[in-house]
Amino acid sequence: MQDNILTIVIPCFNEQEVLPETVKELGNILKGLIQQEKISSNSKLLFVNDGSRDRTWQLISKYTGEYSYVTGIKFSRNYGHQNALLAGMTVAVKYSDMIITIDADLQDDVTAIPKMVDKYLEGYDVVYGVRNSRETDTFFKRRTALAFYSLMRKLGVNLVPDSADYRLLSKRATEGLLAFKERNLFLRGMVPLVGYKSAKVYYARKERFAGKSKYPISKMLHFALDGVTSFSIAPIHLILYLGLITVLISIICMIYTIIEKCLGHVVSGWSSLMISIWLLGGIQLISISVIGEYIGKIFSEVKRRPRYTIESETFTQKMANSEL
Ligand code: UDP
Ligand code: MG
Repeated sequence: MQDNILTIVIPCFNEQEVLPETVKELGNILKGLIQQEKISSNSKLLFVNDGSRDRTWQLISKYTGEYSYVTGIKFSRNYGHQNALLAGMTVAVKYSDMIITIDADLQDDVTAIPKMVDKYLEGYDVVYGVRNSRETDTFFKRRTALAFYSLMRKLGVNLVPDSADYRLLSKRATEGLLAFKERNLFLRGMVPLVGYKSAKVYYARKERFAGKSKYPISKMLHFALDGVTSFSIAPIHLILYLGLITVLISIICMIYTIIEKCLGHVVSGWSSLMISIWLLGGIQLISISVIGEYIGKIFSEVKRRPRYTIESETFTQKMANSEL
């Protein structure tokens, strides 16, 4: 059966501890689906090595030799999770009818994969993996995630709450996503913009079974900031509101000063001067930093740097061989 080729894209950054188990579990899922004739026997796992400094690539190469369904891409350096996902999809889309993206640490329940495939077979182009509880997350991560989703909603960005980058996309949905040429990637915000019929599959998120999180606070904050500034111009509106309020306050101050002068009171200049200097300085700084953020975005967009450089990959070759 050559229809319904599924490719599972798995970004990996220093994941040598989890890879053996990941290959085994995802391999079993893939084989099960092939046996049930839900997907083509040509379906593959595609590991994207995102510049790992450990033995991740050696392991991927080893498994590529051992199992016909394992393939890999090796980045020339670390380009980040989102770029790794995009690279996997770009390489796989030509040969795949559907693509599932999942983290290497299998925190996302792999038993949701057959459910996603079922939804695809029912005719859905986009199937979101949505976690039904956040019990395994730390209190801090849970609170910050909640705050982030509500902030994004207020800023008018359409996100599917509690869904990360665990999802299925059909070939045409993937092609739609790849047509977005922006450099600042925030895939979970971009996917809903692609459109098509979508469904949700619920699962419980587990704890990472080995290794450490590759998303420290600094990376998380950067990612959240990218999400806001790539999708919303609300901060610019904020400057406008701040400006209007400031003008209003200064008008009230002016009236007050004129009344005080007419009444012949001594103007207590120092405190009001100090307050206004600090107030204006603060407002200006905030405004400049917000504008700067957007200028930064424009800067990186106009440079049109390549998102990644692939050093080597085995997916295309294996697919070409299996076509012979
Ligand atoms: N990852 C990546 N490049 C990076 C950071 C992470 O490819 O620069 C991968 C990582 O190997 C994993 C996935 O992205 O497969 C999610 O990372 P992690 O599980 O550490 O994030 P968390 O679940 O803690 O948010
Ligand atoms: Mg994880």
